[in-house]
Amino acid sequence: MKTDSAKDVIQFGTRQIQYHLHRDDRKHLRVVVSPELKVDVYAPKTASDGQIHAALKKKAHWITRTLDKLETYHPLPAPKRYVSGETFLYLGRQYRLKVENGLRQPAKLVGRFLWVWIEDKTDVHAIKRAVDAWYRKRAHEALGRYMEKCYTIASRHGVPEPLLVIRAMRRRWGSCSPSGRITLNVKLVQVPVHCIEYVVMHELCHLKNNNHSKAFYSLLNRCQPDWRKRKEALDRFRL
Ligand SMILES: [Zn+2]
Repeated sequence: MKTDSAKDVIQFGTRQIQYHLHRDDRKHLRVVVSPELKVDVYAPKTASDGQIHAALKKKAHWITRTLDKLETYHPLPAPKRYVSGETFLYLGRQYRLKVENGLRQPAKLVGRFLWVWIEDKTDVHAIKRAVDAWYRKRAHEALGRYMEKCYTIASRHGVPEPLLVIRAMRRRWGSCSPSGRITLNVKLVQVPVHCIEYVVMHELCHLKNNNHSKAFYSLLNRCQPDWRKRKEALDRFRL
């Protein structure tokens, strides 16, 4: 949810390392590799792109080794196979996929199952399309609802009304732009409601304070006093 960083890539051998660059008042470059397999690079404001690149090349071996180690200990969830019995998350609850032969129609939740009707049960791509469409629809409904709920609170603290965009993002739950647009990851609909509300409130507060300053956190504290607990719960989910 950092709004003060840009995503970049360095090539190391056959490998591409994606990282987020943050510039601030510092003398030396610092690299942080987190258990979520994220690489954050903190560089002096005055460093040129070439200098940052050269410094990163020197650290590339250490970065890849650390990433490999973390990946071994904390494997990311296996890619979905889209077969019956597989579980899918919605608002923090698990639902089992049930693929049935039948005329194609929109997927829907029935009890603890996510039903997909499809002409050919072996057509994994069609099943994935049906599941993705279901998630998109749910995301627009649910995220819109929680945005409204959070905005009711935030507006009392002088936060301007946002424009909401929902789309797939690879590495962030949410982001905001100075023009007042909040973008939420469609995958956010998978995590529990109290985590969704944390991301939404965090981004809403950025509309008034577009940084992670003291003023920003004081606003967030007023809008959502228990945000730390919510963030901790969210950090257990991986993008
Ligand atoms: Zn932020």
